[in-house]
Amino acid sequence: MRITSVDAILIPPEEFKFGNSRPVLCRINTDAGYYGYGEAGATFFMGSDAVFALIQEMAPLIIGMDPMYNEVIWEKIYNNGYWTKGNGAIIYSALSAIDIALWDIRGKATGLPVYALLGGKFRDKLRCYASQLQFGFDKTDPKFSAEEYREVAEEAVRRGYDAVKVDPMVFGRERGGEQLTSKQEFAFFDHKTLNTIAERIEATRQGVGKDADIIVEMHCTTRLPNAIQVAKAVEPYDIMYLEEPIAPLCPDATKQLAESTTIPLTNGERTYLRSGFLPFLQDRSLSMLQPDLGLCGGLTEGKKIADMAYTYDVGIQAHVCGTPISVAAGVQLEAAIANFTIHETHVSCLHDDFREMGTYDDFVPINGYITVPDRPGIGQELSDAALRRAVIATIK
Ligand code: MG
Repeated sequence: MRITSVDAILIPPEEFKFGNSRPVLCRINTDAGYYGYGEAGATFFMGSDAVFALIQEMAPLIIGMDPMYNEVIWEKIYNNGYWTKGNGAIIYSALSAIDIALWDIRGKATGLPVYALLGGKFRDKLRCYASQLQFGFDKTDPKFSAEEYREVAEEAVRRGYDAVKVDPMVFGRERGGEQLTSKQEFAFFDHKTLNTIAERIEATRQGVGKDADIIVEMHCTTRLPNAIQVAKAVEPYDIMYLEEPIAPLCPDATKQLAESTTIPLTNGERTYLRSGFLPFLQDRSLSMLQPDLGLCGGLTEGKKIADMAYTYDVGIQAHVCGTPISVAAGVQLEAAIANFTIHETHVSCLHDDFREMGTYDDFVPINGYITVPDRPGIGQELSDAALRRAVIATIK
């Protein structure tokens, strides 16, 4: 089997109405009739045009190669990408999208789901948390009042979730809402802001009840001093973990935060390769890693990151913030690793315009759980409707 062509695929924003995303994917085609889909990660806020172009630049490196040689292809791109040896979101997004597509082909060609190729399924269902609830389930407007935080938390429980994630520091720049970060001096929050953060998390706890888990998303908004402030402010509400409290380029600061709070810390959606994650394992500052398969080096590297974390007793949640293709790839890895912790279901994944981008619609949690599909490959395809509206550049 040989790779005959690579399609770089960009989904225009009007086809994906939630947030600032312009998804970029690749479809790798073969002379055996099999094809595979992969998705790039660095496609929200900015990066889409660069990733779309870079997939086209990488394509000639792999055309003519056997798509089953995923390790060889990965290393070839790594050795010929030049910037691959300098780290970065764009170059690893393109490599990751290609790698995921190779796994999809491998599954289809063998008639097996990716989880079976990775070693087998540890579980039939994945526990999910409702992610980014500061946007609400049905609207893209950020929540501002503590009462709104409580209401959306209650709704999550009604929908069957026993874990939620909220960012209590979300901003409302373009919507006239209160901007918490606009009130800060560098790296410190004033006391009123800290009280607002605490009130929002207290309301979330009231909404979900004492038995559910709360994850506090921090989106690298904070620096070390105010990350310590926030950790202290939310500690009374029994938090499962703080996500991205410190930018991942600062392992020393992450380590210091870990030593100052009893709340576990997680990070990883902006980190690449095993070498990027290793410092946080060696210093034991992170309790869970959150690699984005569309960024970290694809399924090939993601599995290795998960196995490396296992040796440190550290769990894994695949960061997911893309189309149904990225969700499906994440589900396959999470099914196949012993150290899976919990699956992220972004509220955007529940919207009709998102779901219509995939051929299969069984990735919406039922009573808080996704059932791992048994279809060959990653178990998802871009729908005809999505392809019709996409910008596609084919490299032969
Ligand atoms: Mg996050």
